[in-house]
Amino acid sequence: MLRALIRTPAAYFSYGRRFVHSSTAPLIKGTGLYGFDHLKTPKGFQRMVDDAIERSNELVNHIAGMPSAPEIVKAMDEISDTVCTVIDSAELCRHTHPDREFVEEASKASLRLNEYLHYLNSNPSLYHAIIRAEKNHHMLTEEAARAVHHLRIDLEKGGIHLSPGADPSLTARISSSFCLFNENILSDPGHVDIFPASRIPKKLHHLTKPIYRASSLASKRSTGLDSNLKERGLRVMTEPNTLCSILQLTSDAEVRRLAYIRGNSAPRANLVVLDKLLSARNEFSEKQGLVRLEPLLSDRYARKTVTNTISIILLYDHYVQIMGYKSYAEFALKENMASSPEVVLSFLRDMSEMVRPKAEEEFKKILDFKRAETGQSVKDLEPWDEPYFTRMMKSSAHNLDFSVVASYFSLPQCIEGLKVLAGSLFGVKFREIPLGPGESWHPDVLKLSLHHPDEGDLGYLYLDLKSRKDKHPICAHFAIKGGRKISDTEYQLPIVALVCNFSGSTSHSVHLQHSDVETLFHEFGHALHSLLSRTDYQHFSGTRVVLDFAETPSNLFEYYAWDYRVLRTFAKHYSTGDPIPENLVKSLQGAKNMFAATELQRQVFYALIDQALHASQPSSVEDTISIVADLKREHTSGKHVEGTHWHTRFSHLVTYGAGYYSYLYAKCFAATIWKKMFHQDPLSLAAGNALRSKFLQHGGAKDPTIILNDLVGNRVVRNQSGGIIPDITSLGEEMKLFD
Ligand SMILES: [Zn+2]
Repeated sequence: MLRALIRTPAAYFSYGRRFVHSSTAPLIKGTGLYGFDHLKTPKGFQRMVDDAIERSNELVNHIAGMPSAPEIVKAMDEISDTVCTVIDSAELCRHTHPDREFVEEASKASLRLNEYLHYLNSNPSLYHAIIRAEKNHHMLTEEAARAVHHLRIDLEKGGIHLSPGADPSLTARISSSFCLFNENILSDPGHVDIFPASRIPKKLHHLTKPIYRASSLASKRSTGLDSNLKERGLRVMTEPNTLCSILQLTSDAEVRRLAYIRGNSAPRANLVVLDKLLSARNEFSEKQGLVRLEPLLSDRYARKTVTNTISIILLYDHYVQIMGYKSYAEFALKENMASSPEVVLSFLRDMSEMVRPKAEEEFKKILDFKRAETGQSVKDLEPWDEPYFTRMMKSSAHNLDFSVVASYFSLPQCIEGLKVLAGSLFGVKFREIPLGPGESWHPDVLKLSLHHPDEGDLGYLYLDLKSRKDKHPICAHFAIKGGRKISDTEYQLPIVALVCNFSGSTSHSVHLQHSDVETLFHEFGHALHSLLSRTDYQHFSGTRVVLDFAETPSNLFEYYAWDYRVLRTFAKHYSTGDPIPENLVKSLQGAKNMFAATELQRQVFYALIDQALHASQPSSVEDTISIVADLKREHTSGKHVEGTHWHTRFSHLVTYGAGYYSYLYAKCFAATIWKKMFHQDPLSLAAGNALRSKFLQHGGAKDPTIILNDLVGNRVVRNQSGGIIPDITSLGEEMKLFD
């Protein structure tokens, strides 16, 4: 979802031309992975990269000859298309392919192309051509002028306009630090040993490992005694999912406390590694000249897997100082709707104020409940109490049995739900189509064409939704090809994939939790943005929009997972076929609303951390910890626990550096769009068509503010200090924050 620095994709190959935009388009006769001829074998990635580089070099030479402004933009976009296609395919492959050889070759392909991107990003003739094209903007269409402007900014973000003087050893050193941090996170999720085993509820034992210790006299009387006088206990690994289950379901407060503290202070080894990085930063800063980091930063894989936040922040800061920005936040936000850290902070403070009274009310309710449950007049609600008591309160108030809910959401029914949405809103059909030989990467994969009765095929969607061993545990939307205009009569159709990890042995036995349905619809919103966009340039295709606008369609489609009028059309009981009862949906909504303000407040707090850490250089690990603690005290009702530093697991700090607030922007935009366009009739074809023609179709080719104004009127945003802030009242009213 991150808009890449000149992610100039490039392979000309010409397979793009196969996806002709016409109702008579032939079915793709894929003869390799994703329909790419080269990918009949893993080694094909090498040829794919060779071809991409060869074609891109041809285009670079063409551009260096200074053709006309429109030619420059077209050739730049083709480079981008060529390189992106390979990088994006490799990205999907690395996350999903069961064959190690494919994964390894895909990784090599990414590495090589990232190096090549480094060359492109620092190529002066491309930069000069772009400056020239921008000067001649009168010769360009509006979209081309916008493209050339963005390309220049992207190159400048890479530091191209500064004096050259790269330090090649720097990226290597940073890269190895990334790996070390990552290894630490994987190898040390933290653990606590609990004796006796009975302190942990039986239903959670499968998440733990049995351990034994010599029994003391006192514990010999306990039931956890075996014949050798060894006491049986359980080891709990405190990785986030297990930690969450322990905190929600364990009645023993001391067990919760131990697990919370351990889980929120792992991995410890990284603190030392961080310290070393901290001093390394000073060393780097002393070096003169331009240091180029963007190949690493633009590698989504590296950014995603390296969750050591502070190291990245240090890198960002160092990089940005060289660029001449005051902070990384300033650098990252410049082209976003918000445009500056001041605007983001003002928005986040407004949100914090708006949500505070209701969140405090909720906090007090939880504390009162704890007092009633424990029969003690406790003063405080501890951080390890909140998940436990809120879960109890939700289930007692709404009598929710989550396995009953899941029985209405078998995977095939949920896919049916996606088809219902596309059909009702846009008059299009998702049709399952056969996969060509070698096109698929696993028997579970489905391929759908998005077909319009008048316009023909609009794009292709792969679904790989079930979990399996060795599959990356993510839910995400991957682009394989972006849409772009090839000529006046040809359009390269977008190809995307949705990847999730829903568990079950066969697709009929996969039953989604309701939160999974929400996730699926979220990712589907991204996919529709890609599939329905019709931009001239792939640079603006679908989700390639500024970061603080990118999550809007996905947040909008989350609403569909909560609306009974929608759910009844596809959520059918797996054995009886009965539609989901309205009361059950009401209970789900009720449980969601019970602590919605607390959850929103948490998101505001996260976004504030992200801003604070990118706004100035923390001087030490301790400094970072205290910044987070102070923000928690200031903006939430919860306590900071000394010694914990959970933010070292906050991977969005890495992937969305200074951009986490984008989720909140999207939440506000989506609330206004839902209220004004879909609240009355969520499946309205007229509203859906307006969403398509005024919003989704434009991808990043149009200013987001203009898109939003066209769609729902000008009160959806307001201008402040040169930036754009979403209207927060639709969200506030929906959440009843003003009552
Ligand atoms: Zn998303």
